[in-house]
Amino acid sequence: MSLLREAEKCIANQYANNFNSFITPLPRAGQWLNRVKEAEGRGEQGNPKSSIDGRLISIKDNICTSSFPTTCASGILDKFTSPFNATVVDKLEAAGAIIAGKTNLDEFGMGSHSVHSRFGPVKNSRRDHGGHDISAGGSSGGSAVAVAAEQCYAALGTDTGGSVRLPAAYTGIVGFKPSYGLISRWGVIAYANSLDTVGILGQKTFAVRDIFSILNKHDAHDPTSISESARSRIVSHLQTSRLASRLTSAPLRIGVPLEYNISELSPSVRRAWLLSLEILRNKGHTIHPVSLPTTKHALSAYYVLAPAEASSNLAKYDGVRYGTRDNEPDIDRNPGGYLYSKTRGSGFGAEVQRRILLGTFSLSADAMDNYFIQAQRVRRIVQKDFNAVFSATHPLEKVNQTDIGRSESAAVDVIICPTAPSPPPRLSDVIDTSAGSSPLDAYINDVFTVPASLAGLPAISVPVTVSESIQGSVVNELAGIQVIGQYGDDELVMKVGELLEGKKFEGAE
Ligand code: GLN
Repeated sequence: MSLLREAEKCIANQYANNFNSFITPLPRAGQWLNRVKEAEGRGEQGNPKSSIDGRLISIKDNICTSSFPTTCASGILDKFTSPFNATVVDKLEAAGAIIAGKTNLDEFGMGSHSVHSRFGPVKNSRRDHGGHDISAGGSSGGSAVAVAAEQCYAALGTDTGGSVRLPAAYTGIVGFKPSYGLISRWGVIAYANSLDTVGILGQKTFAVRDIFSILNKHDAHDPTSISESARSRIVSHLQTSRLASRLTSAPLRIGVPLEYNISELSPSVRRAWLLSLEILRNKGHTIHPVSLPTTKHALSAYYVLAPAEASSNLAKYDGVRYGTRDNEPDIDRNPGGYLYSKTRGSGFGAEVQRRILLGTFSLSADAMDNYFIQAQRVRRIVQKDFNAVFSATHPLEKVNQTDIGRSESAAVDVIICPTAPSPPPRLSDVIDTSAGSSPLDAYINDVFTVPASLAGLPAISVPVTVSESIQGSVVNELAGIQVIGQYGDDELVMKVGELLEGKKFEGAE
């Protein structure tokens, strides 16, 4: 299909489907048309700017763009348009890509189902077997649905604790979270700085890889961005650190974390996991059980640390320096706390307010030692757990082999596990918290994604399908399989993901 035809189809899909995946879609008529035609011309002359020249890429609405508003799906930024582009947006445009609009999300990235949005919930483009609307996952649910429903070629999201991988798993596409510090966060509105990464969503891993290679560059604007010299050191470190027999062309050692086999795992997800391991074994790779003992504490630590950082980041939205002021007529006559509380009370949604309260509490003098400090300790142990099982040592840390208790027999190149413990829940169940579901129910969906975030590791979710027999008829159930690698092993993670992506496991049990 020609680039122009592809772009026109995407735009038609943006306006035809009602998944609420976009907060600001691309205008039907506009500059994009000429830009796609120009890209097509460059392609015909064999001179494209890049592999994404002329492609439509959607951007999550917490990433700044100067030509579209950036709302973070929040009332407090509903009138905000950034005067500049985020570095990632500039890089995509320089490579010839066209920004395909801004996608819906959980407010400021806080949530797992994309229902906490000032602009209403995102709907998955698939339905469950009973024909019910299901969760698109969150918080990058709009970006995931835009890709799944062919409203763009690929999309950017952000992944702080799983927000790219979970929606990818729920919508049946590929979602990649790179190693922390590889993609610039300049112009990305912060949720929890020490965990935030920009992630990439696409139908296939090759598209994700192409975009990653464009964004995977040092940015002097972002103090956490890894320098070019450190990037080359990381690559050579990983090569020498991994034993010769474990080079990527040789059979890989695949780790299966025993602690991830939790009782809440749904049967179809467990089956998809087992059959994925089977595929890798049939390709000649070897499977090894590994232990990540801190897994069950990782989720609790994450939900202390992320809100703590969030409460501090969101303090600036006070209606004076930042944020839409609540302009009740009497507000100027009521100085003091009134302006702030009015503005923040009406600007922020319930989930964000909950996180601010949680974070402010855990950082308060009385609670600091029992919550924040303990959670930081757990985070260190989660990082140690991973270092103890990977064959390559962490390229940015001085690790003493004996210190980390690494056992050679268990040293693995990547870890394979599910992305989410169960298939997507019904949308009505996650919207209606009065029906007995607590906000905590959403947090449990992140149990398999937060450990890699706490350790800053690269991870990808790829879709597989298992067929199941339900009351005599065979139905296909989607599942996301996650591949996690050592810091800097982003290429390897994508390579292994590619071996599994799109696999269909026939023959219901
Ligand atoms: N669901 C997690 C949270 O609410 C992760 C969100 C994210 O990765 N942005 O914090």
